[in-house]
Amino acid sequence: MERYDIAIIGTGPAGLSAAVTATIRNKRVLLLGSRDLSEKLEKAREIRNYLGFPAVKGPDLAAAFGRHLDEMGIQITEKRISAVYAMGDYFVLQSGEEMLEAAAVILATGVTQAKPLPGEEELLGRGVSYCATCDAPLYRGKTAAVIGYSPREESEAAFLSEVCGRVLYFPVYPQETHLPGSVIVIREKVLEIGETEGGRVVRTAEREYPADGVFVLREAIAPSRLVPGLETEAGHVKVDRSMRASIPGVFACGDVTGAPYQYIKAAGEGNVAALSAVKYLDEMKRNNA
Ligand SMILES: Cc1cc2nc3c(=O)[nH]c(=O)nc-3n(C[C@H](O)[C@H](O)[C@H](O)COP(=O)(O)OP(=O)(O)OC[C@H]3O[C@@H](n4cnc5c(N)ncnc54)[C@H](O)[C@@H]3O)c2cc1C
Repeated sequence: MERYDIAIIGTGPAGLSAAVTATIRNKRVLLLGSRDLSEKLEKAREIRNYLGFPAVKGPDLAAAFGRHLDEMGIQITEKRISAVYAMGDYFVLQSGEEMLEAAAVILATGVTQAKPLPGEEELLGRGVSYCATCDAPLYRGKTAAVIGYSPREESEAAFLSEVCGRVLYFPVYPQETHLPGSVIVIREKVLEIGETEGGRVVRTAEREYPADGVFVLREAIAPSRLVPGLETEAGHVKVDRSMRASIPGVFACGDVTGAPYQYIKAAGEGNVAALSAVKYLDEMKRNNA
């Protein structure tokens, strides 16, 4: 299996900036995220505090970032990472059933404002899942409930509808859904995920929906869940001034390290994280020589 020097998870300003610097330093970079870059960039109407762009619309700044990547030949690999495992002197990153390898990892996954639903954390791995590709086979022919926090999650629900007998979809966003006809869309406020004798139940403000499995699909997974054993503080990755996290070889940058939540801070931390990852790899090479 191909082993990259640095895997960067996230395509917001933090991850992109890290990718640019690591590429300039001749490291083999695996940049994971979305070709649409970051929803938070797309949503910003006007940004007034990004150096060099006095008043820029989010999509225009995103386009400028995209041109920068193109000019440097940096590719984005469109994959969602569900777990990162430390293997000693390298890391395995899980994306669905696929495993990827890198010697160092930079977390630039942003921050999710959404608090876990009542019951979500208690039932995680016991009927509650964050990964449709990984766990769909468990619910073959059965009923799956999907709580989707953005339209991007609809492709996962569509995939589940090919495997499961019945899919209930709870969109937690106002946009119209575009799903196969067999998916039952329920626009009710989800209050909690509970247990029943036969399985799980999604409780909304209006009623209860029994299901065999519940998929909670959000843009960002809590960093402590993404990287088991990683030290966090109030939901953010604990880092030092070099953006080093508590596990050697793991670095973090941007909103995932904490407030202030700002583009330029994210981009600046991405630069520092990349330089620190380069230093870590060079030291590792020297020690192994
Ligand atoms: C409406 C709005 C307006 C704003 N206006 C301003 C402003 O004017 N000025 C300012 O400085 N800041 C502003 N911000 C804040 C700014 O958007 C954030 O601080 C910035 O986007 C953080 O960058 P980031 O790279 O850390 O994370 P993000 O931009 O959130 O990017 C994270 C990326 O990681 C990806 N990702 C997450 N988990 C995974 C995974 N498991 N696998 C693969 N990819 C993953 C996501 O898809 C996303 O691409 C605004 C935010 C919003 C929402």
